[in-house]
Amino acid sequence: MINHNRLHNHIQELSKIGKVGETGVYRLAHSELDVKAIYQVKEWMEAAGLQTRIDNFGNLIGRLEGNNPDKPVFMIGSHIDSQPYGGRFDGTVGSLGALEVVQTLKEQQVQIQHPIEVICFADEEGTRFNKGTFGSRGITGQLVDGELERTDEQRITRRQALLDMGCNPDQLDKDVYPEGSIEAFIEVHIEQGPVLEKQDVPVGIVSGISGPVWLTVTMEGHAGHAGSVPMDQRQDALVGASEVISGFRSIVSQDPNADTVGTIGNIQVFPNSRNVIPEKVAFTIDLRDIDVSRREDYEQQFKQLLDEVAERHNLTYQVQEDMRSNPKYCADWIKDVMKQESEKLGLQAPTLMSGPFHDALVLSNVCDYGMIFVRCKDGLSHHPDEYANEHDISKGVELLYQTVYQIVTND
Ligand SMILES: [Zn+2]
Repeated sequence: MINHNRLHNHIQELSKIGKVGETGVYRLAHSELDVKAIYQVKEWMEAAGLQTRIDNFGNLIGRLEGNNPDKPVFMIGSHIDSQPYGGRFDGTVGSLGALEVVQTLKEQQVQIQHPIEVICFADEEGTRFNKGTFGSRGITGQLVDGELERTDEQRITRRQALLDMGCNPDQLDKDVYPEGSIEAFIEVHIEQGPVLEKQDVPVGIVSGISGPVWLTVTMEGHAGHAGSVPMDQRQDALVGASEVISGFRSIVSQDPNADTVGTIGNIQVFPNSRNVIPEKVAFTIDLRDIDVSRREDYEQQFKQLLDEVAERHNLTYQVQEDMRSNPKYCADWIKDVMKQESEKLGLQAPTLMSGPFHDALVLSNVCDYGMIFVRCKDGLSHHPDEYANEHDISKGVELLYQTVYQIVTND
């Protein structure tokens, strides 16, 4: 059994670093406060008997050797950077939960076969340099060109921010894990959605992380004086866009039992003037589903809708694809262990999809992965009011402990 009090002391202590208001935290990646938090957790890792290092991506890693040093590493953890005005639990629960799991294994002198690493990934949130999951993409060789030259609002580059925290951005290569060297990765995270709360259960087992499609749609008509162009002669791009926007909602909600979610969160109107007919409107589409064929079907329906609306209002349109990533399913063997252990713990843990992406999604490209979700209040996250009950958190971490125990003591 994990140590409930120690876990929550850690969570509480860490929330003091970068604290804003009563309950918020503000720890932007690689910043002074983020680094302070990293060193605090490093100290706790060392107290737990782990061998620690901060790699050149800014990841904090604590390692516990197994009996068989040739075995690939079993990795658990999450991130401790936050959004500006973020919450105390996003990432922290999975990071300090992982530490608690390994500390308990060590205290109980459990004979483990695999080496285990607890990892706090650098810059999961992506706020500061507008590109997230930096640490997890780093160790798995998934960084792209120009990544170190990205700048924050103060024009500080990622390279400089890494140098400032003592990392060597010219030696990133040596911190990339060779292929096959990670056996599996498991992450505990607050749900950041309302599903568990609605089902009135503390913990859920994640089936997979849905793949988002990001599009930018631009619709174009004709500007004209709002006072003089008769209604039947208008080519009003905003009127067309508004029909498309409400139609998009109907498309993604047609099956009430599906996991599909679709959002239009940004819209730009040109010339954006009260007495000019809108000539051009650009808006974003975020469409996610765990079922890729359904997602594609809805996307097709959306494009048909665009055609119809454009024709009706005499508009042209363009669709730019900004991102297309496929859903990634959690490994069946990990989910099976989780299911079995959750039953032993008396948790009625349902299976649910993750809409948000996580470091686990990045790891899924190189190894098997699993995730455990903890219920959070009103599904709220990335906000100072984010809240997860400590007993729920302990249940999620206990499930991680039992799952890891089964895996690392076997074979
Ligand atoms: Zn997170």
